Amino acid sequence: VTQRNRAALEALDRADELRAMREQFELPPDIVYLDGNSLGALSRRTRERLAQVVSGEWGKGLIRSWNSADWISLPTRVGDRIARLIGAEPGTVIAADSTSVNLYKLLSMALQLDPPRRLIVTERGNFPTDLYVAQGLMTQLAGCVPAPELVRVEGGADAIAELLQQRGDEVAVVFLTHVDYVSGRLHDMRGVTLSAHAAGALMLWDLSHSAGALPLSLAECDVDLAVGCGYKYLNGGPGAPAYLYVARRLQDRCVPPLTGWMGHADPFAFSGDYQPAPGMLHYLCGTHSVLAMSALETGVELLLEAPMEALRRKSMALGDLFIELVDTHCGNQGLNLISPRDGAHRGSQVAYTHRAGYAVMQALIACGVIGDFRAPDVLRFGFAPLYVRYVDVWDAVMALARILREGSWDQPGFQARAPVT
Ligand SMILES: *Cc1c(COP(=O)(O)O)cnc(C)c1O
Repeated sequence: VTQRNRAALEALDRADELRAMREQFELPPDIVYLDGNSLGALSRRTRERLAQVVSGEWGKGLIRSWNSADWISLPTRVGDRIARLIGAEPGTVIAADSTSVNLYKLLSMALQLDPPRRLIVTERGNFPTDLYVAQGLMTQLAGCVPAPELVRVEGGADAIAELLQQRGDEVAVVFLTHVDYVSGRLHDMRGVTLSAHAAGALMLWDLSHSAGALPLSLAECDVDLAVGCGYKYLNGGPGAPAYLYVARRLQDRCVPPLTGWMGHADPFAFSGDYQPAPGMLHYLCGTHSVLAMSALETGVELLLEAPMEALRRKSMALGDLFIELVDTHCGNQGLNLISPRDGAHRGSQVAYTHRAGYAVMQALIACGVIGDFRAPDVLRFGFAPLYVRYVDVWDAVMALARILREGSWDQPGFQARAPVT
């Protein structure tokens, strides 16, 4: 990108190797959508697939479709597709439940694997649900001897390394979100995993903000455990199923804490005693939502058709462009960049603080530019490379510059907080 005007960016969009992907998505023409990191967009293929599952497989096939449409194997089928997306071997990923529930399963398991180790280590700034799940687990296990302990370090990878040096032999598992949900800062997956292993601890990554936006290689990084979200870059739809990954070497070493019939070795034997299924299947608990799984399957299928290196290149270019345009057009307007400037250290989002962040975002949304707000004062913009265009970045920054220059965010209508921000 050299010339900075709308026409030059339109030319970039015309030459974009991912242009055909954008055409798969049915985004409203008057909207600039910069929130695919919170809820991925709807593709035509997903809408058509859902219609077919509803009227054909459910409407006509009825219960027969568990076999005839192979509904029963959706969790492993979708899991194997996600495995390709995150650089994991087939048979190490399964789609199920929510990210929160999957994290609960894996943290519980991590505490069982090497019992004298009783510390669960994370960062204070980790995504709230990740912290809450760990806190709940600590409450549940408070009566155990010795009781497990949750350690929340301040200060990112260096602080984790320091803790591992001091108390490494007590640590059962380190769990981190790979791309920080607020700033977009990217952890060094290989490096942190290596230092956890050097201390004899397990490493668990939450991939919610990285899978589908950047190349991952869980196998090469020798990751032990991972969870991730289906409704962000995977475009699985609102509340889509999540997924979990367990390295093959750990899969049959213990039983997860939620032992339901879908994780039984033979669910339809209806025997009275639990027998875990082998491999990833015993990480299932109850029956999956077929509609939701079908939408997720289509979302992942589409992503796999785009070369991941191209997605990453475009995602970095979009983020760099946004930062550069904000520098030029929104200077001295009270915005402070809190994301890494260097795209190599950033996921696919850019965030700024502003003292009236909530109202500014509401004013932007009223102009058709959709990003989101994270308490207390963060404006967050996501660049899903599958469908965000260079002109979208231009239009978003121009709208932001106008709102800040004119102070049009300062109206009562933009202050009232809705339940979801
Ligand atoms: C989005 C996200 C979640 C979502 O959890 P749910 O159980 O689906 O609500 C969890 N962790 C991280 C890091 C996320 O970004």
